[in-house]
Amino acid sequence: YKWRHDQAKASNQGFTGGESEHDPTRPKAAFVILVRNTELGGLMRSIQTLEWTFNSKPRNRYPYILLNDQPFTNRFKREIEAVVSSSVQYGELEEGSWGMPEWINRTLAEKKWEKAKKSGMIYGGSESYRNMCRFQSGFFWRHPLLDGLEYYWRIEPDVRYFCDLEDFDPFRFMKEKQKKYGWVLSLHEFPYTVVTLWLQTLKWMEKNPHHIARDNALGFVTDDKRRMYNKCHFWSNFEIADLSFFRSEAYRSYFDHLDRAGGFYYERWGDAPIHSIAASMLLSKDEIHYFDNIGYFHKPYMHCPKDPPGSRPGRCACLAEESIDYDPGKFSCLYQWDELMGRDSLARQKEIYN
Ligand code: GDP
Ligand code: MN
Repeated sequence: YKWRHDQAKASNQGFTGGESEHDPTRPKAAFVILVRNTELGGLMRSIQTLEWTFNSKPRNRYPYILLNDQPFTNRFKREIEAVVSSSVQYGELEEGSWGMPEWINRTLAEKKWEKAKKSGMIYGGSESYRNMCRFQSGFFWRHPLLDGLEYYWRIEPDVRYFCDLEDFDPFRFMKEKQKKYGWVLSLHEFPYTVVTLWLQTLKWMEKNPHHIARDNALGFVTDDKRRMYNKCHFWSNFEIADLSFFRSEAYRSYFDHLDRAGGFYYERWGDAPIHSIAASMLLSKDEIHYFDNIGYFHKPYMHCPKDPPGSRPGRCACLAEESIDYDPGKFSCLYQWDELMGRDSLARQKEIYN
């Protein structure tokens, strides 16, 4: 693994770029993308809208870090480099960060996958999806290509960005406002995927009360005075975060506890509920930011900003009333967020859907 570390060191220069290369206030930031060779077309489509709306502006040009459990093909690299305005680095996953740890009983796990699959759970029978969720929870931020990086923006294949962000740079915003975690879409998780996640979280909290933030956002993920987990989560396929959040002793300790408990494999814990519960426990609510001004789509949901003037960027190729934000089916968790932040959901709902 030595060569990979050498490659990573050399690559730290890669965090600069664009017109603001020598600007000391420029955040050390990058897009981080876990992706398979088979998803090349979808990733090109994602990158196109990201470049149009944000990254191709000369002062931005943030680099890309692409990660894969398999080596990227030359074709993949060539096609991606043809559609980006900045640089790309490729990383393979480190030993131990992908796949079942030795304390998981494979026979038992496989039995549970069979049952989950039969019950109709999405990705219920998939081992690789579980590897992905564990990696995105506990390992992406430890990859050597991210050493020295302050902020990351997660991108996935086949997502879309709708709004020309003009002068707005989400990385600079995070840095200036000292935000630690940024999101756009929030949803309820399917209960069967996280049956014992809250129980394990309570166990960890009991042992680690000193890690719970004072003005935390636990109200977002719980009902009934924190007794009940409401399954609300920030949809992590979009995520902009200060990596110091994931690197913190508190986050690592929480992840290790969950990893030992085995729910990544015996159930199907997603990285979204885990990032969200962690952010809600460990950050103050003012450190979590709802990027209302970013228009974004990941199948099957989207968020499209609505005026008031000034809040909506110049051009958005989307309709606000098609947003999931205040859907009547209440699959969205923007209601819970509003309640936590003292915002009037009903007034906002009327503005958007009338
Ligand atoms: P969904 O959004 O929950 O339906 O899951 P996705 O299939 O979009 O997976 C989430 C992210 O992980 C995407 O960026 C995928 O490209 C990536 N991903 C999922 N499974 C694998 C895998 O087995 N290998 C690699 N390299 N990437 C994966
Ligand atoms: Mn996806």
